[in-house]
Amino acid sequence: MGWYEALKDAIKAADQLRNAELKQKLAEVQVECAKLAEDNALLRQELIEMREKMQVHQDMEFHNNVYWRRMADGNSEGPYCPKCLDGERKAARMTERNDDYYWRCPVCSKAIEKPGPGFRRSIRAKTDFDPFSG
Ligand SMILES: [Zn+2]
Repeated sequence: MGWYEALKDAIKAADQLRNAELKQKLAEVQVECAKLAEDNALLRQELIEMREKMQVHQDMEFHNNVYWRRMADGNSEGPYCPKCLDGERKAARMTERNDDYYWRCPVCSKAIEKPGPGFRRSIRAKTDFDPFSG
C-alpha cells in the first residue's frame, strides 16, 4: 500500500470515529506528503539526467583537441565539442566542411582546427604562392 492509500484509509477511519480534528490533521499530512512526492519525482529525474551526463563523459576520450566516443565494437565515433562536453556536459557532434580544415560545433559555434597539414593545404588551395616551400 502506498502512502496515499494509507492516508486515505486513516482519514476514513477518523471519519468513522467522528474525530474531526484528527481528520483535519490527516488531511494536512496528506497535502505535505503530496509535496514530498512531487519533490522526490523531480529529484529522481535530476538523478537520471546526471547519471546520463556522467555516462556520456565516461565513454569519451580526448585527442586532437576534441572528444571521441568509444563504441562497444572498439571503434571511435565523433568528434564531439570539448566546450559543450566540459561545460554543459552535453555531447554535441561537430560538423565539417569541404572547403576548410575545421570541425565546428553547431551548438556553441566553437571551431577546432583538424590535425595534419590542413593550414598549409588551405593556403595552397587559395593562391599559387606557397609560403612553406623552399
Ligand atoms: Zn559546442
